[in-house]
Amino acid sequence: MIIQRVVLNSRPGKNGVPVAENFRLEQSTIADTVQTGQVRVKTLYLSVDPYMRCRMNEDTGSDYLRPWQLSEVADGGGVGVVEESKYENLAKGDFVTSFTWPWQTLAILDGSSLQKLVPQLVNGRLSYFLGAAGITGLTALLGIREKGHVAAGANQTMVVSGAAGACGSLAGQIGRLEGCSRVVGIAGTDEKCSILAQEMGFDAAINYKKGDVAKQLRELCPGGVDVYFDNVGGDISDTVISQMNQNSHIILCGQISQYNKDVPYPPPLPPDIEKIQKERNITRERFLVLNYMDKHEASVLQLCQWIQEGKLKVRETMVEGLANIGAAFQSMMSGGNIGKQIVSVSK
Ligand code: NAP
Repeated sequence: MIIQRVVLNSRPGKNGVPVAENFRLEQSTIADTVQTGQVRVKTLYLSVDPYMRCRMNEDTGSDYLRPWQLSEVADGGGVGVVEESKYENLAKGDFVTSFTWPWQTLAILDGSSLQKLVPQLVNGRLSYFLGAAGITGLTALLGIREKGHVAAGANQTMVVSGAAGACGSLAGQIGRLEGCSRVVGIAGTDEKCSILAQEMGFDAAINYKKGDVAKQLRELCPGGVDVYFDNVGGDISDTVISQMNQNSHIILCGQISQYNKDVPYPPPLPPDIEKIQKERNITRERFLVLNYMDKHEASVLQLCQWIQEGKLKVRETMVEGLANIGAAFQSMMSGGNIGKQIVSVSK
């Protein structure tokens, strides 16, 4: 059977900016028949995520991520539909997902590696299982619950960096749902900032590419910052940490501003900022959503309930066609997305 697939064409280098040409679309084949225990799936949606930047290096720098190999098919979060099944728990027409979905139009996969999806949980929006009702939503929710120390009625101010991205846009809303009284976002364009304030219920948002971020933050968070959901690291985070209160908490979600640099994870803070962190007893513990697998099922149900109730607003940037997945990745890494970056694979 003939298929289309996307392979890693070249590596950007540890300190390089990734480009669409690092990926290559090519024709390939899969077996015509499905063996016992296997299913043939048609790919519907693929997830494009910042952690994939690490997989483009020969060494990912972490023990839980495997590097992609040159000329081998890339993989990540995916959703598809079963076309043929020789696995007892799945039938033709079932919708399924996996964290290691190959970037190809059709695939033969082990049935046991797939999770069956219930489309009604997300009002039929299957791509949400890669975002708000998937690993992205879980990251926002569990990051806040495990590391945020948010308490209803405690009058806490939360700041979110990378706020118009997939995790950030959910984190601000969830911070509010969990009890923060004030939520301020930091994002890279005026359009993103107005979406955060007008659609997503943030009290305000700062465009970090314009004006003085420290000054705006002081004005928008007059009582200081109690919880910081950090997606970006670097200068933005140093500015936020400088305005954090005694005994406050950083949710160390990600450090995207550092991913094109050959530095350890998490990158150490500059000495003056580390001094502030220590003196004010600000927690900054490593957070990895995959360390809380036992909480995933119940947390997905919570996210789906909020989506159905309209309490969680979801944004996606949808790109059509497997051929455009490299361009989608390049665009997301440079701020071209609002909410979750998804590639829709129709054929
Ligand atoms: P995302 O925020 O949707 O996409 C990346 C966004 O980051 C871009 O849209 C861009 O928006 C911003 N950005 C890019 N370069 C930047 C820079 N140098 N400085 C500031 N902002 C920059 O991605 P996501 O999927 O939600 O992931 C957000 C973070 O969470 C990432 O760091 C990711 O690695 C992390 N993550 C962690 C876990 C975990 O278990 N800890 C799980 C999932 C994701 P602007 O226009 O605002 O610049």
